Order: sequence, then C-alpha cells, then structure tokens
Amino acid sequence: MAPKTVSIVGSGNWGSAIAKIVGNNVQQRNDVFSTIINMYMYEEMVDGKKLTEIVNMQHENIKYLPGVKLPENVIAVPDILEATTNADILIFVLPHQFVQKICEQLKGKIKSSAIAVSLIKGFAINEKGIQLISHQISEILSIPCCVLSGANLAGEVANEQFCETTIGSKNEDTGELLRQLFETPYFRCAVVQDTDTVEVCGALKNVVAIGAGIVDGMGSGDNTKAAVQRLGLMEMIKFAEIFFPGSKTSTFFESCGIADLVATCHGGRNRLLGENVVKSDKTIHELEKEILKGQSFQGPLVAKEIYGMLKDKDMLSRFPLFVAIHLICDRKMDTKEFISCLRNHPEHM
Ligand code: NAD
Ligand code: 13P
Repeated sequence: MAPKTVSIVGSGNWGSAIAKIVGNNVQQRNDVFSTIINMYMYEEMVDGKKLTEIVNMQHENIKYLPGVKLPENVIAVPDILEATTNADILIFVLPHQFVQKICEQLKGKIKSSAIAVSLIKGFAINEKGIQLISHQISEILSIPCCVLSGANLAGEVANEQFCETTIGSKNEDTGELLRQLFETPYFRCAVVQDTDTVEVCGALKNVVAIGAGIVDGMGSGDNTKAAVQRLGLMEMIKFAEIFFPGSKTSTFFESCGIADLVATCHGGRNRLLGENVVKSDKTIHELEKEILKGQSFQGPLVAKEIYGMLKDKDMLSRFPLFVAIHLICDRKMDTKEFISCLRNHPEHM
C-alpha cells in the first residue's frame, strides 16, 4: 500500500509538541507514512518576521513551544488548502472555537478517502445543542474522525517525559494505524472504542481544573483540591451518562479520564487561570492575553457552552460545580462562595 501522507492542522503549544512526535515517527515508519508533514500554521508576525518562516528556518516554534527543536521534515504552511489537499490523515489540534471556520474552508477540497483525528479538548454549539468536535469535523468534511486525548501537558511531552494517552477509534485497523503514528517510548498509547467518552473527558476536565485553581488562589490545600477533583469527576461521569448514553465507566480510568483530570488540576493552564481569577479582578480575556501571550484557555469557553445548554434544558441544579465555575469566570459569583458549593454538593442525583 502507498505510504500515507499526514498533515497537522494547528501549531500552538500542543500542535507543536505533537508535530515533534509525528515528524520523528513518520521517518522511522516510512513504509507506512510519507516522510514530509505539512503543518498548517495560522500566520502571524513575531519579531517582525512571519512565524512560518521562522519555524521553517530555525525548526522551532519560538512563540508557542520555545526551546524545543522540531524535526526538519515538518513544514509550516500558512495556506490551509496547500497544507491539507494531499493528506490521507488529518490531525486537528486547534483551539475548538476555530474548527468550524477551518473545516468550512476544507469542505470538498480534501481527499474523500482521508481520515481525521482530533486532539482538541472542547465542544461545539449548534442549533441542536452541544456537539463533539470530532462529530463536527466528521459532519462538515464527510470523513471519519477519531480522537486522541490524555494527561499530556505539552511542555512535558515535548521534553520526552513519560506519559500515557488514549486513542478513541471505533475501527480497530484505524486505531492501530494511529497508534503507529503517535506512539513513542515516552508516549504510550492505549486504543479504546468508546470515542465519545474519551472526548467528553478532555473537554470537561478543563472546567474542573479552573475549580482546582480557584481553591489554590484562595489558599486552600490539597484536601480541598481533591474534593474539587472528586466532585468534578462525578459531574463528568453524570454529564457523559446523560448526554452521551452508552459511555463506559472504564473509559474514565484511562489516561483521558482520571489521569488528565489530575494532571490539569495540578499543572494546566486552566488551573493557572482559576488561581488568577481569585487574585485579580481582570476579565478572562485580559488574563488570557496577559498570562498566555497567544495561547488559549479552553475551560472558560466550555464552561459557558455547557452552562447555556444546561440552562436551556432546566438542568443547572444537577451540575453545581460546573455552574459555579462558569459564574465565577463570568464574575457573576464571588469566589468566596465556591467552598459552599463544594460543601453543599448533592453528589450525585
Ligand atoms: P495554543 O493555545 O497554544 O495556541 C493557540 C493557537 O491558536 C495558536 O497556534 C494560534 O496561532 C492559533 N490561532 C489563533 N487565532 C486563530 C485563528 N483565527 N484561526 C486558527 N488558529 C488560530 O494551542 P494548543 O495548546 O495547541 O491547543 C490546541 C488544542 O489542544 C486545544 O483544544 C487544547 O485544549 C488541546 N490540548 C492542549 C494541550 C497543551 O498542553 N497545550 C494538551 C493537550 C490538548
Ligand atoms: P491546559 O489547557 O489546562 O494546559 O491543559 C492541557 C491538557 O489538556 C493536558 O492534558
């Protein structure tokens, strides 16, 4: 069979870390994959130069993953169509708010035999309510879309510190192909078929991590943070049970579930946001600009999306932790009320 061409759509902190893995792997598995990888990069100027040109000259994404060398076979491409028209495998790794626009541009322009894999942690909102990003990609592009999600803080992965991840694929052969594309001695991949739950975990743990940051900001200790994690996990499980029926409890014990929840509540950007929400009275947007310098927090947007959906369905009282986190981010609830939310949590109806 002809080697498969891989393209990466996205080039932020995680996009660049995954480009390092995939760029190295395709060179070692050149019987299965073509060795050149196009990485779509949203063009911007850094120090008076185009970021794509810097990446292609220095083989380093100096803005989003400084200090990490990218393999030279990863080519940054500013044109989304040029980056993807030949692709057999499309790796989506963008903040979720940009997916719809990018996919609309790709519609009818990619190979009809291509497959996608989404590494994105978020939800889409449409007229039918909440939608998984992998379903959104699949619906717009008319191709299958798998997922990859786990306890994978990008900086640690880029520095080759051991971690695990979960690939969700309903098709076993595709799952195995993706395992070959992503697995390394420091990035252990498990493949499961319960794809929806893998993705739901990734989106929701970012909300819980803001809660972990809020208790850090208030000066509470690890016991309080553990309560946030436990109650957050209960809400994640209930959310999956209600809105994605058929989800398996065992998936919450994969890297995408409990492990990602713990990692993000301790070392994630969303945790950092929660801490700063307590310590400052700036808006989320101001904090994002100030703290992340171009990167993005996905948790506040997901919290807002699920709040709107739960309100429409008259179900706010069933997810008090998610609701409190949204209201605190929106500055509609005082951070001091967060502890009463934990104390009075009905866990779980
Ligand atoms: P990031 O937050 O580091 O960077 C933001 C990216 O968005 C940049 O590449 C920027 O160029 C791009 N961008 C800005 N405006 C744009 C536009 N209008 N259209 C298209 N792109 C635009 O990104 P990231 O960390 O790679 O996150 C991507 C996804 O991966 C998110 O869903 C995130 O939750 C998930 N994720 C992140 C990590 C991590 O540790 N960073 C780990 C696992 C999963
Ligand atoms: P943050 O976006 O909160 O840094 O989380 C990264 C992540 O998803 C780690 O698995």
